[in-house]
Amino acid sequence: MDDSTSVRSTDTLRCLPAVHEVLKHPSVNASTALLGQDSLANLARSAIDAARATILKGETAAQLPTTRAEWMDYCVRQIAQRLASNDSLALQPVFNGTGVLLHTNLGRAPLAPSAKEAIDQAAGYVNVELDVQSGRRARRGIHTLNLLAELTGAESALVVNNCAAATVLALAATSSNRETVISRSQLVEIGGGFRLPEVFQSAGALLREVGTTNRTYLRDFENALTDETAAIMRVHRSNFEINGFCTEPALGELAELAASRRLTMIDDVGSGCLYDFQDLPDRVGKSVTEPNVRASVRAGADLVLFSGDKLFGGPQAGIIVGKAAAVASLASHPLMRALRPDKLTLAGLAATTQLHLSGEFRDAIPLYRQLYRNKSDVETACGRIVSSLEGNRKIRASVVSTSASVGGGTLPGFVLPSFAVRLTSERISEAALAERLRRSRPAILSRVESEAVLIDMRCIDESDEDNLVHAIRNAADSTGGAPA
Ligand SMILES: *Cc1c(COP(=O)(O)O)cnc(C)c1O
Repeated sequence: MDDSTSVRSTDTLRCLPAVHEVLKHPSVNASTALLGQDSLANLARSAIDAARATILKGETAAQLPTTRAEWMDYCVRQIAQRLASNDSLALQPVFNGTGVLLHTNLGRAPLAPSAKEAIDQAAGYVNVELDVQSGRRARRGIHTLNLLAELTGAESALVVNNCAAATVLALAATSSNRETVISRSQLVEIGGGFRLPEVFQSAGALLREVGTTNRTYLRDFENALTDETAAIMRVHRSNFEINGFCTEPALGELAELAASRRLTMIDDVGSGCLYDFQDLPDRVGKSVTEPNVRASVRAGADLVLFSGDKLFGGPQAGIIVGKAAAVASLASHPLMRALRPDKLTLAGLAATTQLHLSGEFRDAIPLYRQLYRNKSDVETACGRIVSSLEGNRKIRASVVSTSASVGGGTLPGFVLPSFAVRLTSERISEAALAERLRRSRPAILSRVESEAVLIDMRCIDESDEDNLVHAIRNAADSTGGAPA
């Protein structure tokens, strides 16, 4: 920075408004009721700081405001931008038009109405650790745990924050400073920081890998067992498949081996699949290869671990079911206190479990309604949206066939035929249109494909269609006047 620049900077710095002046500006002042004086003052301060930093960087004068009034506008604009970006990060309902049923960025499984009600009730005082009949303390969430055990045919159940927590707890409780044996074909990364070797490390468990990427035999496990061995583990690969020249021992064989050596058999099944989905109306592709929770319990696993918010269709949770002694040793581990679920999760899980037990899950759990929805029904829904948009001069809408997927690391290669509303605008690009839709309220999340925006209707409820049309119209209006 030469001398003349620094003189210019000092002059310019004098043009910056003070915090109290910015707060008095009408368009900033309007947000006082919503944000409170202190938060707004912090925003104003950081906007002025940002302006000061820009000046001190010595950017060419042509790009920067010069007068006091212009600098005031500059700061007010900065504040408006920050308010808008805070707003877009706030948790809010969205339309899932992505065609991915369990979307990790959208909180995976949407909850059943009865689960929402249960959560709403549990939000007040609730007997999460109390038997109201005897007035005595009860095991936390025991009602939920009993339902889970009943549903899965297990002796006992436990709930933690998520399946990653269940894995860490299972390894820490059974295998701390001792070895757990696992096939090399299962040392997976599930995504979002869940990498098996690192999970072992964080739990203080020693990883003993056996076999090869494609072929692992029972004898590989037998040969690896020593006095240091604590457990045998099977992990579902979840989001990819190994096909062709490959083999792995059956869970039953591994569980038998574990039992004969007094080791713990841990089965991380991940998705929490309870059904074989043979009766899905429009599935294409192969049959379901997802491990079944009840089958794992029957095969003799001591601990079966799965997520609450994948194919179970409930709230985020790690569910552990299995033999009473093995589950009890996890329940009494010191880590349990750090991983225990809150009352809302326990309430939502109990209600969801009840729907599986009663057989009502197909109609009541949104994930299952979407899975079992006929493609012709989705096509009709798209038709309704398209005719509601007829005559709109800013966007063109039509119905196209698409492929939906289950997502959330479950059922890879499993394709659900679906339909989408295809939107194009003559004024703006498909990417810009997708952005407008995302910025509408509620936000509409779509897919951009072959020069158009696709809103897959499989995950959008009929009762939400009017709102969706309204939001699309608003987004269309923001694209400017009708094409010439
Ligand atoms: C998804 C998954 C996990 C992680 O589950 P979260 O509930 O997301 O923590 C762990 N193991 C397997 C096999 C999975 O599929």
